[in-house]
Amino acid sequence: MALAMAREARTPANAQGVMPGGVVYASSEVHMSIPRAAALLGLGHAAVRQVQVDEAFRMDFAALEHAVLEDLAAGRRPIAVVASAGTVNTGAIDPLLPIAAVARRHGLWMHVDGAYGALAALAIPEAFEGMRLADSISLDAHKWLYQPLDCGCLLYRDARAAQAAFSHTGDYTRSLLQDPVERFAFFEESLELSRRFRALKPWLSLRYHGVRAYRDSIRADLALARHLAASVDARPELERLAPVSLSAVCFRHRGDGRCTDAELDRLNQELLLRVVRRGRVYLSNATVRGRFALRACLVNHRSTESDVDAIVTEVLAAAGD
Ligand SMILES: *Cc1c(COP(=O)(O)O)cnc(C)c1O
Repeated sequence: MALAMAREARTPANAQGVMPGGVVYASSEVHMSIPRAAALLGLGHAAVRQVQVDEAFRMDFAALEHAVLEDLAAGRRPIAVVASAGTVNTGAIDPLLPIAAVARRHGLWMHVDGAYGALAALAIPEAFEGMRLADSISLDAHKWLYQPLDCGCLLYRDARAAQAAFSHTGDYTRSLLQDPVERFAFFEESLELSRRFRALKPWLSLRYHGVRAYRDSIRADLALARHLAASVDARPELERLAPVSLSAVCFRHRGDGRCTDAELDRLNQELLLRVVRRGRVYLSNATVRGRFALRACLVNHRSTESDVDAIVTEVLAAAGD
């Protein structure tokens, strides 16, 4: 939805009603939902230009600007930049402030994909500096606001951009002339028409528990992730594959110490199956610089330190160590 708004606002149709194509920028760690959105918008997967990341999996903002300039010189139209906060694989938070500066210099819409991580700004706002400059932010209350599936949320700054994209009356210039808020119904600012009352869940739980309870729980999850990272680092059999900036911890078993990367991929795939079959802990996986990683992601308010300790114990047990 954010990219539909961005496209309508930044590359409106010409006098013949034809909308030009355009380019969307995101880091190489971007969630697959972004290329999928580009495909649905008719821009195509290939319209998402993947910008390289630094050693901590954050978008290289100098490379972003370079790519934008290159596209402009070639006559292509930059539409939007999607910053991840944080990435689904490792929880890396793109440098939002410099990305916002690039977006502003070149007239790009700035969307923050905060589906997994943005709610951690309740606990560690300093890690999200620059997020307030975004044109839109997506976040999943069913991830780090502990809500049952599904409860996704899109925040956007300019109601007129939403109306231009989703109201049958609206193009962006026309909607600029109208009273920005009152003349449109909610379904004219959204892809969805008939829908369930999903907002009841977070509203009720926020009223009941208060924001502070969420802040404390998120802080506890962040601390558990650091604890897991330290436990992994303390075991010579295990190797951590990414820095921990939020609550995702990626690591792998080193095998007998003489394995190639391809062998380690196979070994850890097998290990993941065994760990999950043992039934005590549930891990997912990620690809980190092309390597197969075991990935623990802590977004449950009931997780405890002993749960986290069980991860290391179970992985080692499954490996037969
Ligand atoms: C989960 C996730 C999404 C997709 O969210 P859904 O709720 O599955 O639609 C998008 N981006 C990131 C970074 C995510 O972690």
